[in-house]
Amino acid sequence: MRSIAVPVILIIFVTLLPALTAASSLPLDAQGIGLFLGWLGAGSLVASLLLMIRNPYWASCFGGLQQMYRWHHGMGVLSFVLLLMHPMLLAGYYVPLGSDIAEEYLSPLNPQLINILGWLALAIITLGMATTFFLHLPYGIWRRLHILLIVAIVLGFGHIWAVSGFSIGLAAALFPATIPLGWRLLRADRSGDTLPYEVSAVRHPANYITEVNLRPLAKPISIAPSQFVRAAFFEGSHFQGCGDFHPYTVSHIEKDGDLTLSIKALGDCTRHIQSIEPGVAARLQGPYGNFLLTRPIAPEIWIAAGIGLTPFLALLRSQPVIQHTDMIYVHRENDCVPYEEELQTFATSQSLLRFHSLPMTNDLTPLFMRLESIDKLNKKHVYLCGPPPFMTKVIQWLRKHGMQGEQIHFEQFDFR
Ligand SMILES: Cc1cc2nc3c(=O)[nH]c(=O)nc-3n(C[C@H](O)[C@H](O)[C@H](O)COP(=O)(O)OP(=O)(O)OC[C@H]3O[C@@H](n4cnc5c(N)ncnc54)[C@H](O)[C@@H]3O)c2cc1C
Repeated sequence: MRSIAVPVILIIFVTLLPALTAASSLPLDAQGIGLFLGWLGAGSLVASLLLMIRNPYWASCFGGLQQMYRWHHGMGVLSFVLLLMHPMLLAGYYVPLGSDIAEEYLSPLNPQLINILGWLALAIITLGMATTFFLHLPYGIWRRLHILLIVAIVLGFGHIWAVSGFSIGLAAALFPATIPLGWRLLRADRSGDTLPYEVSAVRHPANYITEVNLRPLAKPISIAPSQFVRAAFFEGSHFQGCGDFHPYTVSHIEKDGDLTLSIKALGDCTRHIQSIEPGVAARLQGPYGNFLLTRPIAPEIWIAAGIGLTPFLALLRSQPVIQHTDMIYVHRENDCVPYEEELQTFATSQSLLRFHSLPMTNDLTPLFMRLESIDKLNKKHVYLCGPPPFMTKVIQWLRKHGMQGEQIHFEQFDFR
């Protein structure tokens, strides 16, 4: 993991810069505080944009893409709160001066450009917050609505411009905002920072899982077991991929740079990938994630749920375990469990590895009973990977049974 200090200082600097450059021209009263919070909200919104740049180096400074997205969410919430307080404090200043003055400066119903731009920007940001934190919309719809936040930012800049013209504060907010927006438009969304691969072989360990072997057509991605890539599939002779980038953990890394992805049919795109064929063109971006990369020297418990197995599988396929490890593989099948035979073979040949295969439904009692039977559970470190609701329940159980936060490590197969 790289040092987080420099990126954090940069984020704080970008947050404060517009407010600090504008501060000298603000009055020392409720109006001044309201305006200051508006500038601070604009700065934190711009900082949150910097935290969505999916550059592998930048993401690794925060400990991985998922951790960087947590920072992105944190800055987004901060900016939302500040931007909400901005009109409230201004109301505290204008309302005592008379309802007509308050209405002129603040009412969303007043058709002045300043008001329309400001309120519209705030409404879109509120929608963005609701769709990210409260409504669990299908990923594609959520993504389109999230992109709408760019409109909110443009409207917000328009609002600042309508209030104070082209000021140094506006320039201080505008300049850093052009970096993530430019990067997103010119590099990420045009495959500018991706590498070409070709599907070289396809295997089906279960009828809803496809193992896709990828051969690099240029420089291979330098990736470690348990890390993930963002991959998009395009044309083959009979197959047409959806061309969208989705995250997948590599389940095997070969010395010559070939990578294997194990893809479970969970939605439209992954269902379609089940019929992929050799020769299909792919582009990969990464590497991302540091889930199992650096681990304290301590006995370990691995809990893999369903396709959440892939980071552990990649690790076992690359080297034997070096700590006492209890691996629990939770799955829905009673027989023909994908990868079970391979995992049993690893456990037979490695004295430090104990493997438990656990067929389960939504009731997690069998897993909790298995965990309770593990000797000195509280002295171990737990590594978890699986769907979010499963992980939440298991983490709650572990915390209730005395495990500290720093003993619980997880990768979530979902981010937005
Ligand atoms: C870090 C990480 C590693 C993963 N590794 C694997 C793996 O090794 N094997 C595997 O089968 N699956 C893996 N997944 C899950 C996989 O990315 C989703 O199943 C896939 O993106 C679903 O796309 P869809 O269009 O088929 O389904 P949808 O119905 O569109 O999505 C199903 C769910 O997948 C997630 N998702 C969809 N698209 C994206 C996207 N572009 N970016 C992030 N999340 C998205 C959303 O949470 C969504 O709710 C991983 C996910 C993450 C975040």
